[in-house]
Amino acid sequence: MHQSYHGSIEVVCGPMFSGKTEELIRRVKRAQIAKQRVQIFKPAIDVRYHEEDVVSHSSQAIKSEPVEKAVDILIRLKDSTRVVAIDEIQFFDENIITVVTKLAARGYRVICAGLDLDYRAVPFGPMPRLLAIADEVMKIHAICTVCGAPATRSQRLSKSKEQFLLGETDAYEARCRGHFHYDDAEEQGLLPLNEEIKTVAGELRN
Ligand code: ADP
Ligand code: MG
Repeated sequence: MHQSYHGSIEVVCGPMFSGKTEELIRRVKRAQIAKQRVQIFKPAIDVRYHEEDVVSHSSQAIKSEPVEKAVDILIRLKDSTRVVAIDEIQFFDENIITVVTKLAARGYRVICAGLDLDYRAVPFGPMPRLLAIADEVMKIHAICTVCGAPATRSQRLSKSKEQFLLGETDAYEARCRGHFHYDDAEEQGLLPLNEEIKTVAGELRN
């Protein structure tokens, strides 16, 4: 599947605490065992745990290159690199789509990890298009902090409306669909169910 002469785009997505970074590190380590040169990037905005390392919530860590913009990944690429891993990819601008497409076309294996949904459970930045162009997608779950069921959403515990609020354990919790709530009903456009069904049916007919 991962022969060096084929480029590919792999995406690992899910909510916070689902193990995206652990999975990225696992794939990177296996590529290194196969003696493939790996470069690991993360957006410079993500300095929660360490300026340069990619760090998981279980404290696994690996050296990375923080970059300001998607295009910086192309600029910093080394000749010997075969595998490009990008963590917290949801924070990049839309140019990330062009960048990973070019890398795959040039034969690189691209491993991406990122949040599929933001704190409102709305698709995060470039993720919808990234998931669409991916060769392989892994959607992983965390554990709901309320009931222990598989969690697909990141519950923000503060009232901030900043999409880029960087969080740790005290700012977010993993939640299942039933225990996730985002209260701004107006922004979310929530109607009573029977009205919502009529509205959706009407929209689909038009
Ligand atoms: P992500 O990159 O998706 O945020 P990490 O790879 O950094 O996730 O961390 C995953 C680890 O987080 C798990 O292996 C576990 O040790 C820890 N963890 C803490 N809270 C939870 C939770 N609610 N559900 C699952 N794992 C959790
Ligand atoms: Mg992570």
